[in-house]
Amino acid sequence: MLVRGIAFYLDSDLPSDAKFLLEDFRLAVNNAIRAGLQARVTSRNTLCMIAYRDFREQHPRMYAQHLVSAFEVAGSVLKNHRKRVRKLVTWRIPYVKRLMMKAENQAYKLDRKSGVIDLPIRAGCHVELKLIVSQYHRKYLDDMTLSLGSLTVLPDRVVVAFRKDAPRPYAPDSVLSLDTNERSLDGVFVTDDAGMAVKAEFPDIAIIQQRHHDRRKRLQKKKAHDRRKSRELCRKEGTREHYRINNRLHQVANSVLKFAEERRSAIVLEDLKGFKSKRSKALNRRLSMWPRRKLHQIIEYKAQWRGIPVVKVDPRNSSRTCPVCGRIQDSRMGTEFKCECGWHMDRHINASMNLLQTAISKRMAGGLRFDPGAFQHDVMMILYEPAMAARSEPNGTSGIVGGPRCHHPIMQQN
Ligand SMILES: [Zn+2]
Repeated sequence: MLVRGIAFYLDSDLPSDAKFLLEDFRLAVNNAIRAGLQARVTSRNTLCMIAYRDFREQHPRMYAQHLVSAFEVAGSVLKNHRKRVRKLVTWRIPYVKRLMMKAENQAYKLDRKSGVIDLPIRAGCHVELKLIVSQYHRKYLDDMTLSLGSLTVLPDRVVVAFRKDAPRPYAPDSVLSLDTNERSLDGVFVTDDAGMAVKAEFPDIAIIQQRHHDRRKRLQKKKAHDRRKSRELCRKEGTREHYRINNRLHQVANSVLKFAEERRSAIVLEDLKGFKSKRSKALNRRLSMWPRRKLHQIIEYKAQWRGIPVVKVDPRNSSRTCPVCGRIQDSRMGTEFKCECGWHMDRHINASMNLLQTAISKRMAGGLRFDPGAFQHDVMMILYEPAMAARSEPNGTSGIVGGPRCHHPIMQQN
């Protein structure tokens, strides 16, 4: 079962009854966390067994279903906490600060036509939440193959979970093999009779990372006398950075998936698990892996949702191997890969060819073959570039990058 959370803003302010419910719910979650820590349990059912009776007394008016989902939220907080304690990240007792509540799908009603949620607060008291429904939201509301999951209510918006059975991936007619780099995805698109280079560029992600890193460093220096404040500001910086980068990553992923879906391609990616770089600390930070891992995550779950096959392969030696004769070079080279057999190719594209060869050799590419000899050296398809960003940033930073860059004869792809 696949689940996707879709955020809706509300047509008006949250009714005061609902606000009280959020506060009660948070209180219940935090109480349940403490009860769970004391009894050393994390599962919702056990929490329910040991604490339900006390809770019923403390929150006599709360709708019973909501109490049960408070146990569920507490359970997941406790599970995360246990993991973090095991990894020696923290010992602090977890506490939910954010005002929120979660309702299971039996505990609320959503009229999918009108976009009105009926949320019970306590016996005889319901509130109606009118959602703002855009075209994007309609896609989910009108698709009756999607069932409704839980509802999360926040002070300014709600998140509705839509669920469906994972569709069977289609049998691919072509393959899109991508090598993931700090500033781009580089790869090959291969059909029965041709192969050509493809590229999705996102140089601004590295720029955003760099800028936020510098800002954090400055903050730490400025607030050196106040560690609490410094930490708080840095955390805010980090949230903002993640938000901006995620936004870019979604755009890149959408372009890649649109391309693949239209051509019924399977997507080949390198498995980034266990990837450890041996560079110096400073360089490590600049080349930090999370945007790349995150990009893969986004591509994978969106592909799963849409039934696009994705294949992950071991990237070992992919940057050092010649796809024509199979020789493995001793070391990495410059921007171009050159082999004694005469083969030469852009380093990143060469790596993607090797990923593709691995996928083919493991019979994971739908019976397609790849002949480097049939590769069209003069064509480059652009799947994404910063200029294609649908929305520019309010402060105009995304306008700095981009600009004219026409190194290759480009076949523009929309
Ligand atoms: Zn060779």
